[in-house]
Amino acid sequence: MFDTVIKGGTIYTPERTFVGDIGISDEKIAQIKEDGGLEGTHTIDATGKCVYPGFIDPHVHIHLPFMGTNAIDDHESATKAALVGGTTTIIEMICPGPDDEPAHAFAEWKELAVAGCCCDFTFHLAVVRFDELAKQQLQELVSNEGVQSFKIFLAYKGALDISDEDLLELMHMCKELEVTLTAHCENAESIDAMQTQLIDEGKTGTEWHEKSRPRNVEAGGVNHLCSFAEKTGATIYVVHTSCGEAVNRAMEAHDRGVYVTLESVVPHLVLDSTYAERPNFEGAKFVMSPPLRDKEEHEALWGGLADGSISTIGTDHAPFNFRGQKDMGKDNFTLIPNGIPSIQERVDLVHTYGVCTGKIDIRKMVEVCSSNVAKIFNMYPRKGALAVGSDADIVIYDQEFVGTFTHEDGLSNIDYSGFEGMERKGRSDVVLLRGKVVAKQGKYVGDVGEGEYIAR
Ligand SMILES: [Zn+2]
Repeated sequence: MFDTVIKGGTIYTPERTFVGDIGISDEKIAQIKEDGGLEGTHTIDATGKCVYPGFIDPHVHIHLPFMGTNAIDDHESATKAALVGGTTTIIEMICPGPDDEPAHAFAEWKELAVAGCCCDFTFHLAVVRFDELAKQQLQELVSNEGVQSFKIFLAYKGALDISDEDLLELMHMCKELEVTLTAHCENAESIDAMQTQLIDEGKTGTEWHEKSRPRNVEAGGVNHLCSFAEKTGATIYVVHTSCGEAVNRAMEAHDRGVYVTLESVVPHLVLDSTYAERPNFEGAKFVMSPPLRDKEEHEALWGGLADGSISTIGTDHAPFNFRGQKDMGKDNFTLIPNGIPSIQERVDLVHTYGVCTGKIDIRKMVEVCSSNVAKIFNMYPRKGALAVGSDADIVIYDQEFVGTFTHEDGLSNIDYSGFEGMERKGRSDVVLLRGKVVAKQGKYVGDVGEGEYIAR
């Protein structure tokens, strides 16, 4: 007798797809049986629905002091939103300022997350300070706290960027510590110069954001990072790859033996640069970096996912209200806080605009939104798999659900939706976190603060 049995769903294990039952005991998957017949204290009927491993978002910002303000979610609101959207584990970016000690930053973020997270969580730690004290603390966090990934920015001059000299040394350190280096690839200097020129010319509106950070700058950043990785042997992961040119530079390096994997984020897959050009400052809702690109890039990104060039889909969730935050850049697009939040909508957007259109299949969706993230960031098969012994993080998915994306359904604190009015196909019907039902049909039904830190 199991604690809970999920009966009669179409189950996606790492190897096969079949109709059967999943037995759960003590927060773990205890048995998976084709054709069913398992008995439990509680049963959940999944007939006619798909059963997936809980989804994992590899790129989330919650506690985020940035561009003179703070992102509007707290851990409670962001992770409730994640769970109703089928995401049971998040990787949050710890983004300290250039003067902050890494150990203090880690403690600050972890304390907030432990108190508020409703889903499981772990961190990428941004390296913006790299003196002797910082180096020592970074090593200690890897040894003592299970930190397995760092983050660097080749962007945001003077705030978050890192010098080439430090980057090279950091990569040697990553190689030695077997830590994956995640990177925002652009070029801080050239963006700064282009922004200054545009503003001087009176080009202050949101439509100039993309022009200030074009595709070739992103591709150049990817190339730069890859050349350092080639020299050092470090393992790198490029976050939010937005265009075919950047994918190509990474794949060329991959073919030379560089350990590089690529992430895409959902806004780049379903929105395009025309959104950021909307009049009356509405375009500010769609300002993120790298920026939304021409629609033709959608094919490059979905194609890259289908052929395996791109390994994951995250969100880069970074919520700033339209009123009171985004409008800090009303007269100057460079002052608009960056972000298009999608922690709740990610899986349904991928299902609607990737799976239902035939760009990728369901198995690929499960890989790029869950299994691959767990594998790349050392959580597999505890997370990212329907397998005996794995955490019972399970999504029972209603692929027949039809609706519309709207801000009204959102559990994030954000005051708008970047996907308002867009067609929606599919919904997480029941979501389990370590065997407990925490979300049903878009409503959160768990207890706040139940999320656990995953030391990797
Ligand atoms: Zn980010």
